[in-house]
Amino acid sequence: MLSHFKFEILARDSETRARRGRLHTPHGTVETPCFMPVGTCGAVKAMTQELLEELGTQIILGNTYHLYLRPGHEIIREMGGLHRFISWPHPILTDSGGFQVMSLKGLQRITEEGVEFRSHLDGSSHFFSPERVVEIQQALGSDILMILDECVAYPSSEEATKRAVKLTGRWARRARNFFLESINRREDISSGVLYGIIQGGVDNSLRQESAEEMMEIGFEGYALGGLSVGEPKSATYDVTEFTAALTPEESPRYLMGVGTPRDLVECVARGIDQFDCVMPTRNARNAGIFTSEGRMVIKSARYARDERPLDLACECAVCRRYSRAYIRHLFSAGEMLAAILATYHNLYFYLDTMRKIRQAIDAGNFGSFLSKVRAGPLA
Ligand SMILES: [Zn+2]
Repeated sequence: MLSHFKFEILARDSETRARRGRLHTPHGTVETPCFMPVGTCGAVKAMTQELLEELGTQIILGNTYHLYLRPGHEIIREMGGLHRFISWPHPILTDSGGFQVMSLKGLQRITEEGVEFRSHLDGSSHFFSPERVVEIQQALGSDILMILDECVAYPSSEEATKRAVKLTGRWARRARNFFLESINRREDISSGVLYGIIQGGVDNSLRQESAEEMMEIGFEGYALGGLSVGEPKSATYDVTEFTAALTPEESPRYLMGVGTPRDLVECVARGIDQFDCVMPTRNARNAGIFTSEGRMVIKSARYARDERPLDLACECAVCRRYSRAYIRHLFSAGEMLAAILATYHNLYFYLDTMRKIRQAIDAGNFGSFLSKVRAGPLA
């Protein structure tokens, strides 16, 4: 039943752990390393599906927590699944909702069974168990499903981190059992696959324990969770390098919620294949622009008469047509087009960074690409 899914490694970099791969899913193939734009409520904010396709987006992420609350996974199931509902015939990864639920400070309670929480929309009570979140993601018809995990804040005590690792391990086993049983009962016809999530904060021995447990259970892919939550950058990189090396060479590795364009390059070098992050879209809505010269805030008065494009080196449709002065004006005037143009450019920049990474690995010069990025102004 998992035959629609396959991960191929096409090339490996000789100097780093970077690898070039291809992920085959029921809704098409994804060239890796890849970046997955975040489509929280079934929409990548300020984008249409046509624009995402124009940008060359291969796969998007949907948030289970948000879609479960509104419009509800049963409605999406009745509408033929998330792909059909949002008219996105390409691959979709859904998160487990765990991260959002854990972030509901004072509105959630974690037990052995799962997480009780109150909706941020209307205060109503809900319960997520490891089984329930697999069932919801199956109703959505996701290509890649994620297990429910407990993500601890940074900093957290060793005791709290250890407890979260153990609980995540027990939940992972329950999620996997439920997933396999539902496939055997042929209840899930979507042919999606399930990824495990490795926790453990910035403690290598806990990361190792978590990774070993996930591999013992066995998943189609392995995600690194609980990073980019406030720890120093060097810790993000070190934990990524250490943890990625523990997971099977033949399985895809997904670094959750990371990061800046520089982080993408640095973490590909450490063996990561998949990324997602709200940075390009959220920053865009706040006038934060990623460019080859670093980050700029386009609202600034210094751009009022600047006829140049956002990024002189960018070939996106926005940079080919519009000036900094115009986009700055759109932000000042509160025009919706400001968010649309900024998001379009930022997503192009992220996706183009991934294209360049893939080309460099293919051409066997990722090492020199990495050196140039390290020496350059990239954000
Ligand atoms: Zn551009």
